[in-house]
Amino acid sequence: MEQQPCLVTVGAHAADQEFTAGATLLKHVQAGWRAHTVNLSLGEKGHRTLSAADYAAQKRDEAIACANALGATPHFLPYRDGELAANEAIVIELATLLRRLQPTVVITHWRHSMHADHEACHQITKAAVFRAAIRHFDLDGLPAKYARLYYSENWEDTEGFVPYWYVDVTAQMQPWEAAFKSFAIGRGEGGYPYWDWYHARTRQHGIKLGVQHAQAFAVEPRDMWVRRELL
Ligand SMILES: [Zn+2]
Repeated sequence: MEQQPCLVTVGAHAADQEFTAGATLLKHVQAGWRAHTVNLSLGEKGHRTLSAADYAAQKRDEAIACANALGATPHFLPYRDGELAANEAIVIELATLLRRLQPTVVITHWRHSMHADHEACHQITKAAVFRAAIRHFDLDGLPAKYARLYYSENWEDTEGFVPYWYVDVTAQMQPWEAAFKSFAIGRGEGGYPYWDWYHARTRQHGIKLGVQHAQAFAVEPRDMWVRRELL
């Protein structure tokens, strides 16, 4: 029997993709897709008073609670906040995980960001999706799988980000808000109004599209080429 289609998000830090693509992920789960969240680091150095070790434990618990609320399986790679680098080892590790998960769609960060980890995550994920798709790369003997790659809209990754695809997430806003607020920073406890920003963005996109709320995604320029016989 053919496996259900699968959506995988890859974030530099726990909360990045849950905040930018969580409603879209939930919509796919509700449509019968398998879903997984992958975080390369926990984003453990972002707390004003907690130690990195204590905040790592908290962020891990929050990411698990958020993924559970969205109907996704959480995965954590063991890399450290502020130290992500696109190298062979991490690309192979992520590509091998993608071969195991067999995603139809992968969502990660846009290429430009004010945060170097986000730019590294973009490069790592793009390279890993490529490796996972090409059968001549041997990754533990796992079968190759091509995935469509999308970039989510993050308040830190806005430079040059041009939305191309929009997903109507009106019906997912309430459960997504509850999942979002699994994170203390999602409840505004870190001092930055994350929910306000992401809620407002989905509403702005919704107004543009004639729905209540929509999440926006960018793609590689070549993925914008559409052939038509007649205009
Ligand atoms: Zn981040």
